[in-house]
Amino acid sequence: MIQENIKSVKQKIKAACEKCGRNLDEVTLIAVSKTKPVFMLKEAYDAGCRDFGENKVQELVEKWEQMPKDIRWHMIGHLQRNKVKYIVDKVYLIHSVDSLKLAQEISKEARKKGITVNILIEVNVAEEESKFGITCDEVPSLIKEIAKLPGIAIKGLMTIAPYVENAEENRQYFEKLWQIYVDTIYKNIDNVYMENLSMGMTGDYEVAVMEGATYVRVGTGIFGERSYTE
Ligand SMILES: *Cc1c(COP(=O)(O)O)cnc(C)c1O
Repeated sequence: MIQENIKSVKQKIKAACEKCGRNLDEVTLIAVSKTKPVFMLKEAYDAGCRDFGENKVQELVEKWEQMPKDIRWHMIGHLQRNKVKYIVDKVYLIHSVDSLKLAQEISKEARKKGITVNILIEVNVAEEESKFGITCDEVPSLIKEIAKLPGIAIKGLMTIAPYVENAEENRQYFEKLWQIYVDTIYKNIDNVYMENLSMGMTGDYEVAVMEGATYVRVGTGIFGERSYTE
């Protein structure tokens, strides 16, 4: 089932790329495996997935220990400062940086380990109260500050769009994030590498691809519905 789901998601990404004239290799599918057992991740791995997304530190570390080491782990959930130390050397990319204090902590832990940690800035484009992330207006100043920190590299932007019935409703938010992304590229700030736009989930990843996503984060569409009671 998982193998077929991945195939179908990839097919849809390909179709979306063709629609807007993008190269398929510009878009990476992240299999969002939160709450799912390791055997399911292994199935996705065997189907060719090497990018996995988790939103909880402990779960990410547990799965990191059990899964092959060529996986790129993406931290996509809200990150508490006191937990940064457990994952800085295990994650390929942290998608959810939304404050200078969090960035400072990442920088501190990265320097201790002698590494550079790649991050995205999480933007709450739709300004939903229930969501983390900074506002669009706050992006330039936060990027400027984080760019000064050693051991941390800004690689782009991330957003979680609202839950909607019709994915087209989210196009405006993806477009907005793309605009901020391009504006930031033109500013040419040291230590800022605007290479990635992480946007689009099961309900709206095709629209996100058409608006320039380089990472789409798909959970339900690959692993099925999540149950939080287990
Ligand atoms: C859970 C989650 C996803 C995946 O959501 P689906 O709708 O199941 O595809 C993507 N991004 C983030 C940040 C998430 O927390």
